[in-house]
Amino acid sequence: MYPSRFRYEAPHSLDEAIALLRDGDDAKVLAGGQSLVPLMKLRFASPELLVDINNLPGLAYQRSDPDGTLRIGALTRHVDLEKSELLRTSQPTMAAAAPLIADPIVRNRGTLVGSLCHADPQGDWASVVLSLGGSVVAQSTRGRRSIPMANFVTGPFQNVLDPDEIVVEAVIPAARGQRAGGYLKLERRVGDFATVGVAVSLDISGGTVTHAGIGLTGVGGSTIAATEAAAALTGRPLTPESISQAAELAAAAARPRTDHRGSAEYKRHIVTTFVERILTGSSRGHSDEAERAA
Ligand SMILES: Cc1cc2nc3c(=O)[nH]c(=O)nc-3n(C[C@H](O)[C@H](O)[C@H](O)COP(=O)(O)OP(=O)(O)OC[C@H]3O[C@@H](n4cnc5c(N)ncnc54)[C@H](O)[C@@H]3O)c2cc1C
Repeated sequence: MYPSRFRYEAPHSLDEAIALLRDGDDAKVLAGGQSLVPLMKLRFASPELLVDINNLPGLAYQRSDPDGTLRIGALTRHVDLEKSELLRTSQPTMAAAAPLIADPIVRNRGTLVGSLCHADPQGDWASVVLSLGGSVVAQSTRGRRSIPMANFVTGPFQNVLDPDEIVVEAVIPAARGQRAGGYLKLERRVGDFATVGVAVSLDISGGTVTHAGIGLTGVGGSTIAATEAAAALTGRPLTPESISQAAELAAAAARPRTDHRGSAEYKRHIVTTFVERILTGSSRGHSDEAERAA
């Protein structure tokens, strides 16, 4: 199907893009177009104005601040993150998720920030950024504001952005210790959206978990932060007991529905298995590191 008629603008500055959004009725930002364009073709979205941000300078970056804070610009594509040495060496959860987003064609165009803004309950990046305690920075004529990921999504395909706000970057706080964790995704075929996705992020210092975050993909009306499960890990070493307690609490936080991809019970079981698997891998990795350091 063809999209409804729309006006298209491709500004060359952020100020111009924000002004277009402010003055336009029913305007939408176009980044990678990998979610918005299919929606328009199906006529689930019919914006009157598309503001293409692909010509805006200085928004394609991934960089680490001196204190270790990671910043990912709004035009950084999934493929850039998949190939990123920075993520491979310092962000295990992000590095594990990047190659699991869709397929190579989508990864060439789609962006992490676009995925967060799209707020699809089956989007992989939202769980990952949530588990890391990340945030987004939104800009409008009123200035910039930082929005924690935990407060950004208000429901399926809904976020707290005002119509004239553009997210310029996603921010991941610096690790408090050594960063560990991972992302596991159950998909029916390679390239599919998640039947179940689990993101676990840990910071470990002196053998103790100083920060834990668990995000669940595809098992609720929006991305779920399994906060009780994460709390069960924090302030203590990773042990078989803490791992199985966290896995059970994460499964209890899931709100899966039975559908053609599997029963609710099956999906909950996958959450338990994935949390256990990632945490067990992290605990092994950490003891190997400790042995090497000794
Ligand atoms: C076949 C297929 C398979 C896919 N599989 C997966 C998958 O397995 N896992 C997964 O996570 N995703 C998947 N996706 C979605 C893909 O990851 C998209 O790239 C992503 O969801 C949106 O990023 P985008 O840059 O393409 O955003 P766009 O499609 O351009 O925009 C998406 C929404 O976000 C808004 N937006 C975008 N950028 C900004 C910004 N900077 N500020 C404010 N609003 C903004 C837009 O207005 C729009 O509402 C798939 C897509 C396709 C077509």
